[in-house]
Amino acid sequence: MVVNQTELQEEIMQIPKWWSYPEGFEKLIEKAHELGKKELLPRASISDKECRYPRESLQAIADAGFGAVTIPVDDGGLGAGLTGFALLAESFSQYCASTTMCWVMHTAAVQTLYTAGTREQRQRYIPGVLKGKIGALAFSEPATGSHFWNVVSSAPRKGNGYLLNAEKSFVTSAGEADWYIVCTNYPNSIEDDPLMFLIVDHNQKGIEYFPFSAMGLRGNSSGPMKFKDVFVPIENRLGTEGGMNVYNENVIDPLFLLGTSACWVGIAQGALNAAIDQAKKKVHKDTGKSVAGYQVIRHELAKAQILIDSARSMLYRTAEGMDQCLNSGKELSECLYPLWELKTHAADIVIQVTNQALQVSGGRGYLTGQVEKFLRDGRAGAVMGPTNEILREWIGRTLIGVPWFE
Ligand SMILES: Cc1cc2nc3c(=O)[nH]c(=O)nc-3n(C[C@H](O)[C@H](O)[C@H](O)COP(=O)(O)OP(=O)(O)OC[C@H]3O[C@@H](n4cnc5c(N)ncnc54)[C@H](O)[C@@H]3O)c2cc1C
Repeated sequence: MVVNQTELQEEIMQIPKWWSYPEGFEKLIEKAHELGKKELLPRASISDKECRYPRESLQAIADAGFGAVTIPVDDGGLGAGLTGFALLAESFSQYCASTTMCWVMHTAAVQTLYTAGTREQRQRYIPGVLKGKIGALAFSEPATGSHFWNVVSSAPRKGNGYLLNAEKSFVTSAGEADWYIVCTNYPNSIEDDPLMFLIVDHNQKGIEYFPFSAMGLRGNSSGPMKFKDVFVPIENRLGTEGGMNVYNENVIDPLFLLGTSACWVGIAQGALNAAIDQAKKKVHKDTGKSVAGYQVIRHELAKAQILIDSARSMLYRTAEGMDQCLNSGKELSECLYPLWELKTHAADIVIQVTNQALQVSGGRGYLTGQVEKFLRDGRAGAVMGPTNEILREWIGRTLIGVPWFE
């Protein structure tokens, strides 16, 4: 029987584009994937092997106009909103998760600076960011671990500034960023909470960086940092002397939870795409069937895609909800509950899907390469703060009608 290829093609179900991505962002997605293929993917495995910071890839992202995606166009940003941010993070992470994670933290840092900063601070930092300078968030401390909102470090006043002493356990882009937003306590705060944010430039005296050696996201440089008697001038304080927890809930957590969730969805999709590709190509001589020709394998692929799409649907529903919230003048803290569910789910499914992708790829999937790298990179999701245990507790508390925050 002669199979007519055109007829066969016509019988293949076309997945509607709206199912995967919100409408109106087609050009942005296309540009992100072009950039991913051309700039991020070729450097991804070397960055992983050598724990090399993906500076060139981050520079390429800035050169493409994605250095300040959430900042309004009038202030020099891309004005792509949180939906654009999520779309870019999901797309980039299919090519290089380390680059994407650094970029997500950078974007959250830039948005924090923009929201909490003065006009002068914006003018001092945003132009550099557009040219490729990198920002980072130094929050988590060894003393309080996952409870990154409860830091123990402090920065009392000294002359026309503050004397910062802090130990940080994980800082993505440590030693590589151009500036850090350091979360610390102001001991004499009269605000509701003592949290204070200081912008610390990378070349200030008294900063020490330590290497990052991890299972995945190995290019991230997410190592510890120490700030010993670092003098931070008063003009580098963001917002008030204490009282900055409100920015955790309205800027940092929302952007961080959304951006990292997008990474986990992208990693899961990248792993599944690689597995599908291999399953179609590998043909067993004895049965004459490809791996994809076995029904049990196709079911595994289907189960994995359904999991990804469940997280992806939550991702874009949440991102669009956040944009609507901002456009109607509301606070992003109103979106925390959906973000908690989203992050927990995305970080759970990436573990499951990357495992399925490895299984479908067989022994070749276990060899050092694309699929096992996706598995290692994706495993970070559940342990990155707020960790999945903490988020489930907050969700559970909300469900039984008690305050989520102790
Ligand atoms: C790759 C990577 C990049 C990171 N980048 C940054 C960054 O740029 N900036 C930054 O500030 N931080 C960063 N972090 C830190 C991150 O946000 C978490 O703070 C950190 O991963 C928590 O690890 P820990 O060892 O301190 O956990 P621990 O606090 O020691 O937790 C150990 C276990 O106990 C559980 N647990 C802890 N507290 C509770 C609780 N109250 N209830 C129930 N269970 C609990 C945790 O879920 C976990 O399973 C990064 C971490 C990683 C892995």
